[in-house]
Amino acid sequence: MQPATKSRVKGYFGDYGGQFVPETLIPALETLSDAYDALENDPEFHHQLDQALHHFVGRATPLSFAPRLSKHYGLKIYLKREDLCHTGAHKINNAIGQALLAKKMGKTKIIAETGAGQHGVATATACAKYGLECIVYMGEEDVKRQRLNVERMQLMGAEVRPVTSGTRTLKDATSEAIRHWVTHVEDCFYIIGSVVGPHPYPLMTRNFHRVIGLETREQVLAIEGRLPDALVACVGGGSNAAGFFHPFIDDKDVAMFGVEAAGFGVERQKTAATLSKGKPGVLHGSLSYLLQDQNGQVDLAHSISAGLDYPGVGPEHSYWKDEGRVNYSAATDQEAMRALETCAAMEGVIPALETAHAFAWLDKQQAIKDGGLVVINCSGRGDKDMEMITECRATTRGIA
Ligand SMILES: *Cc1c(COP(=O)(O)O)cnc(C)c1O
Repeated sequence: MQPATKSRVKGYFGDYGGQFVPETLIPALETLSDAYDALENDPEFHHQLDQALHHFVGRATPLSFAPRLSKHYGLKIYLKREDLCHTGAHKINNAIGQALLAKKMGKTKIIAETGAGQHGVATATACAKYGLECIVYMGEEDVKRQRLNVERMQLMGAEVRPVTSGTRTLKDATSEAIRHWVTHVEDCFYIIGSVVGPHPYPLMTRNFHRVIGLETREQVLAIEGRLPDALVACVGGGSNAAGFFHPFIDDKDVAMFGVEAAGFGVERQKTAATLSKGKPGVLHGSLSYLLQDQNGQVDLAHSISAGLDYPGVGPEHSYWKDEGRVNYSAATDQEAMRALETCAAMEGVIPALETAHAFAWLDKQQAIKDGGLVVINCSGRGDKDMEMITECRATTRGIA
């Protein structure tokens, strides 16, 4: 293992990141890192990626003014519409990027892990498009809970492998995917779904999502003639937030707010507020803030939204937190549900439960004054969450 070192060292964001993996994977990560660096400077690669993002994903996504939310909160609010991407969320940007990279590297087999199934669906979609074999590891518990996503992946030709170890959820599926990778590194490419994992994944995934922030910058300048006062995004692993924030990171007048899932509450056991409540530790190949008990064992996360239900967070967010560049807070399940209802009723946009946490920021924030220009990254659409939303609303009405 490499020691934690400063940000000038490749693969680190301040003290966070690195490559905490079995020795056998280091050469594979080196090869990947070199291939990625080469393609970063390859105009042909960027041209193909841009074409796919435009003709297949449907980019550029709109920047929609939200007039009724704006009036309600006394701000000028715009929504960056990642919910309008093919497959309904931002995750496809990264899946397409990594799948194209895999193809360029001559790999024929893709593996991925998935919790709720969103990253699995995005990966299966990209693999179908590029004619790549696809195996998705998924906890047995999640396979049961997410039948429709399993069906989607299978329709698109992916093999879904249920994982029966541990708690039979995402953490165990990830361990199983890493095990598979260790034994099949020559022909196998591992597509990771957020800005987590060993270097170069956090960097690469953030860069594949930078298109969100780059488009936003261009659009807001064209419409408003100035940069926003604030950017707001939900943070699970942190990929939609990282891609959205990064192109503005040197613009000191643009405040940035990352909203994690507090679950039942930050002070409670059942939470996913990694940056608010966690401590630095190693999970899935990198050093970052991590939810852990007194003995350093990884705590189970809880959130109403499956996509935020993860005990870790990308290393770059840990760096931005310590630097004070991004302000991180957390919204509870209840606060997110209320914000989701407000957005749906006022704007005709039903955000994903993950995204709803970003909207919940509007109810509590005091940093941005009246009339301030705010862009919220609408990371995904709520169609996939209708069962959970229905159940929640029934419970609060006392029907269930
Ligand atoms: C997966 C997901 C997230 C959380 O992942 P990040 O890596 O934090 O972006 C957020 N929103 C939606 C709609 C998702 O599907």
